Order: sequence, then structure tokens, then C-alpha cells
Amino acid sequence: MNALHSYVRGDWIAGSGDPVQLHDPSTEEVLATTRPSGVDFAAVLQHARKVGGPALRALSWKERGAILNGLAKKLHEHRDELIEISARNGGNTRGDAKFDLDGASGTLAYYGKLAAELPDTPWLIDGAGVQLGRTARFWAEHVLMPRPGVGVHINAFNFPAWGMAEKMACALLAGTPVVSKAGTCSAMLAERVAKIVVDSGLVPEGGFQFLCGAVSGLLDHLDAMDLVAFTGSAKTGSRIRGNPNLIARSVRVNIEADSINSAVLGPDAELDGDTFTQFVTNVAIDMTQKAGQKCTAVRRILVPLEHLDAVKEALVERLEATRIGNVMDEQVRMGPVASKAQLDDVRAGIKRLQDHCATVLGGAEPMDGPGYFVKPTLLQAKDAGTDLLHELEVFGPCATILPYDGKAATATELVNRGGGCLVASVYSDDKTWLGDVVPGIAPWHGRVWIGSEKTMGQALGPGAVLPGAIHGGPGRAGGGEELGGLRGLQPYLMRTAVQGDRAVLGKTFGIEG
Ligand code: NAP
Repeated sequence: MNALHSYVRGDWIAGSGDPVQLHDPSTEEVLATTRPSGVDFAAVLQHARKVGGPALRALSWKERGAILNGLAKKLHEHRDELIEISARNGGNTRGDAKFDLDGASGTLAYYGKLAAELPDTPWLIDGAGVQLGRTARFWAEHVLMPRPGVGVHINAFNFPAWGMAEKMACALLAGTPVVSKAGTCSAMLAERVAKIVVDSGLVPEGGFQFLCGAVSGLLDHLDAMDLVAFTGSAKTGSRIRGNPNLIARSVRVNIEADSINSAVLGPDAELDGDTFTQFVTNVAIDMTQKAGQKCTAVRRILVPLEHLDAVKEALVERLEATRIGNVMDEQVRMGPVASKAQLDDVRAGIKRLQDHCATVLGGAEPMDGPGYFVKPTLLQAKDAGTDLLHELEVFGPCATILPYDGKAATATELVNRGGGCLVASVYSDDKTWLGDVVPGIAPWHGRVWIGSEKTMGQALGPGAVLPGAIHGGPGRAGGGEELGGLRGLQPYLMRTAVQGDRAVLGKTFGIEG
């Protein structure tokens, strides 16, 4: 039995308390345990603030970028071993595992490369200076300074590698030490990634600490310069946001929560044309990749009435062709959901949706044999306006078709009923229709992904989060924002307007002009 450890204050510790079991979701075999307590959180945070932070901030942007490049290489060197752990502890097919792992190393490398273009000063200048006085003598510069705090990163179970790496990339580049907490059910992969990071020797002592197990009480020790970056359910996100200590000290909190993402087919899409094909392909990928356990996966599929039969037929054909089973079988294209709790949640959610939908394919019934398997489930709303369809995230291989009249106004209204989402994808070549829908839904989404004839084969689908574009969404999606190139560093930096004699500011901050 593999007893997982946390890495704190330069040591790997086993923790204490009753062990929590981690399983292979394909077989239900117990693989590892974590222990929920025994970590002195106050000391962990002090170690980060007093040891890790100063060491990181003594380095230049470029030197910190070199750390990220080094970590990306290390993860890549261990790719095969990590894919194996991801399959066993996460129920991920080889493709699903690569999505997580290559996403992790790719994001680290992206930020490593970005650092090469940053200045040699310890700060960044934000935009052009501003004249504040009667003449140009009295001036303001907005300066982005690394904050002397800790980044507490709380990750969801579904992307143990990418989730840890994408947050870490931005924090370390900004000079912020990291305390990274893994989602428990997939912590075996997260712990191995953490070991690779520590063993690399690339991150200065105190710059990276890792927690597996519960973190009850951790947030009570955070202070004004710290930040919590949370990824997980809206419910846990609200609890974190409401933590009295975080409120009292105005601790920055970034929440990436769940999201009832939609894909909208425009009425102009020709059946079997490239736009239609992308729509069907991307929806089917989102439903089956990682068994639908992606925060960006499509949950609501808006289909014009006249295309309903064609869409159902095309999706059913693809979903039926998806081989489901133990991910150690290389022919398998969709594995189980990650845990027994997930299985129960997903089945219960499908049943609730079925009260308002016809079942086109799949359903909540158990599948034969061991493992936490769920059939790919395609539902069709009886009434697209039913509240539950816009409110319940079933975090598994399940999505609901919402038939609509093809009008831009109807699509906009239905999509925005999600209450704030990470991503919406729209598929059309009609610029007038897009011109109505896209600006109408943009305020309610972190990303809007437009599929049209010319985008065929050009890019990954809307479910992929790429470091150059922001990730996050308003409202129910948490109101957070991550990545997006240098924008991803903002939470770790303080933007200060420094005002005074222009020449003095120029000399102080190394600004020419
Ligand atoms: P979760 O139950 O909310 O847990 C998320 C993380 O929070 C885990 O590490 C969990 O630890 C920890 N946690 C739980 N209670 C906590 C508390 N009181 N204080 C501090 N930390 C606490 O979510 P999940 O089941 O892991 O993930 C699935 C959800 O995440 C889905 O709803 C999905 O949509 C969402 N998600 C969102 C994004 C995004 O970027 N927006 C990405 C991925 C997933 P334990 O595991 O130890 O309980």
C-alpha cells in the first residue's frame, strides 16, 4: 500500500489521523492512502513567506522562467511513468492522461518562454505613464510589484498535473512561493508530480510545498499579501470565499468553479459541412474525454429544430462507437469516473435531469462488472427553458440537447441562463447571426469559441484550456481568471500608482523618456 506524503518545510511527512483510501476507478482496487491531519499550517506558510519568497524574488524574471522550463523538461522526461499513474489512479485513457500531463508541461514551458521577454527590473511597468499635474512634471507610473505573500493553490481532482502546474507557473514566475493542495481522490499522480518538482532541485527551498489530505484550518492563517487560487465545485468555492479570515484581511481569492457550458449550432450550418462536423466532433469529445470530467465540457447542446434528427443521429453514432472499459486496454476510449463519490453523484444527477428529458442514449443504470463506469448519456430536453437544465452540472459523460428555434435572441437567452460559464462554443458561418450571438453571450463567459468552415482542423476544441487565452468565468463559474499570458501573473502582483516628479520616477523605475 502506498502511503502518500505531503512535502512541507523541506521534508516529506505522512500526516496523521485515519487513512483515506484512493482507488483504481477501473477495478476499485485500493492503491494508496492519505492521512487528513498532522500538518502545522501556520509553520508551512511562514516557511513559504520567510524562506521561499525571498529566494524566489532574489531571482530575475528570466531566472524564474528558466526554473519553469526546467520543470517542463523534467515532467516530460517522466511522461510514460506519469501516464501509467494517471491511468491507475485517475481512470484516464492514454489520451486523457496526455491531455493532463502535456497540458502541465506545455503551460510551464509557455510561461518559461514568456519570461525571456520580460525586463531585467524586479517589477513590471503597467502601460504608459500619466500626467497628473498642470505640467508633465507631476506624473504617475503604474508599477506591478511581486507581493511578499504565499499562493495557496487548491486543486480539483480532475486535472492533478495540469491544475498544479498552471497555477504554479504563474505564481513562481511572479516570485510567489506555492503551497499546492491536491484533490484527494487523484492525489497519487499529484504526489508523484510534486516529487519530480522537489527532486529536480530547481525551485528554491520554501518555493514549493505540497499538501495531500484535508486542509481544514489552513485558510485561517492567511494574511493580506497571500492569495488563494481554488479550483473545484461552486459549493466549496462559496465556502472558501466566505472564510471570515480571508474576508477580514482582504486576502485575494480566485475561484474557478463549475460551469454549465453550452455548444450552439447556428441555423445556417449545412449537414455534413465542416461547421456541422466540428460541432458534432467537439461535443462528442467533450462528452467522452476524461469521461466528461472537464470543467469546460459541454453540458447544454443548443440545436435548431430543423437539425435535431441529424444531430442526434450523428452524436449517437459517435458515442456508440466509443469503447468503454478498463483504461489498461489500449482500445478503450473512455474510462470510468474518478471515484465512488463521483459515480454516485453522476448517476443521481442523470436521474434528476431525466425527470425533464427524454433519454436519447445511455442513462443512470449501473454497468456490468467492477469499476465506476457510466454510459455516455445524451438527453433531450422536453422544455429547453426548464431551470434545472441550466443549473445542474452533472460532472460526467452526460449532456442535454436543448432544441431551439435557431434565432440569435433565443440562443443568447438560453446560453446566458447558465448564470456565468467558463466557455460557450458557437458554430456558424453567418456573420450577422454571430454578430448578434457572440456580443450577447460574451459578458457571461470567460471564453467564446467560434467554429466555422475555416477553423476546421486549425485548433483544439473549446474544451482545451490554452495558456495564451484566459480561463475562468463570471457568476456561477466563480468569477475568477487564470492564464491568458501575462494576465495570469496579475493576482500575484500589486499594481501601485507611484506619483511624483517624472524624472524621479523614471530614475527609480528605470523608465526611459
Ligand atoms: P471540490 O469537492 O469542490 O474540491 C475541490 C478541492 O477543494 C479539493 O482539493 C478538495 O479537497 C478541496 N476542499 C474541499 N473542501 C474544502 C474546504 N472546506 N476548504 C479548502 N479546500 C477544500 O471539487 P472536486 O470534486 O475536486 O472537483 C470537481 C468540480 O470542480 C466540478 O464541479 C468541476 O466543474 C470543478 N472544476 C472547475 C474547474 C475550473 O477551472 N473552473 C476545473 C476543474 C474542475 P478534497 O479532495 O480533499 O476534498
